[in-house]
Amino acid sequence: MPLKESEAIVLRTYPLGEGDRLVSFLDRQSGRIRGVARGARLPKSRFGSTLEMLAYIRIWYFERETRELVRLNQCELIESFMDVQRDYLSSVGLALVSEVTELALGEREAADAQFRLILLTARAIRTHGPSQVILAYFSLWTARLGGWLGPLDSCSRCTRALGVEAAFHSPGFAELYCAECRDNRMAKISNEALAVGRLALSGTLERLLKENPAMSSAKEILSYALDVLEQHIEKKLISRKTFETGESGIAEI
Ligand SMILES: [Zn+2]
Repeated sequence: MPLKESEAIVLRTYPLGEGDRLVSFLDRQSGRIRGVARGARLPKSRFGSTLEMLAYIRIWYFERETRELVRLNQCELIESFMDVQRDYLSSVGLALVSEVTELALGEREAADAQFRLILLTARAIRTHGPSQVILAYFSLWTARLGGWLGPLDSCSRCTRALGVEAAFHSPGFAELYCAECRDNRMAKISNEALAVGRLALSGTLERLLKENPAMSSAKEILSYALDVLEQHIEKKLISRKTFETGESGIAEI
């Protein structure tokens, strides 16, 4: 049983047996992995607070060839997001990041870009609060890294450049169509929302936040990206609903 050491982000944990935890984590080198943390729910557990949602940790675990689950040996906290979770809507934002990652990534597929995206997103939520702009950036990039997002600047049928007028798409499907090529059943997406999406996919989150896009446009493109993600994972995101229900109280940034 080789002992492996890596950096990881805790995605989710579930109670297991009498005092254990089943832990889903993103290993920076090896991708999404599930393992058992023995005694993690017992008082004075050696895992302490290292298994909180989105905790950035150094992890040591044993891999067993014949078993799917690894055995966690030790964890050390590099960065905690417990402080961010004290705010209700921020915690829902982090839950959305965790849920999307858990469902969108295949097991043991290297995902260093997603790893960096999660840290960037969680740190931005800490600094700016759980804004739609940040979650739109995260969701668009997750869809792009998954290979599920096409270009946001041209019609997928006639390839005409979009950019002044609204575009159309079937909800859940990323392909965009111009007014000429659209089908009557398609939903409209505004050019302002697409402009936010293009900016998100062509630069940094910092630049996007500096542009201070309108809340309504960020919300529209976030909704488009989450529809695309839900279509691919074949599941409705639980935290999306919670986020959308509670978001009316978020301050505009
Ligand atoms: Zn067209």
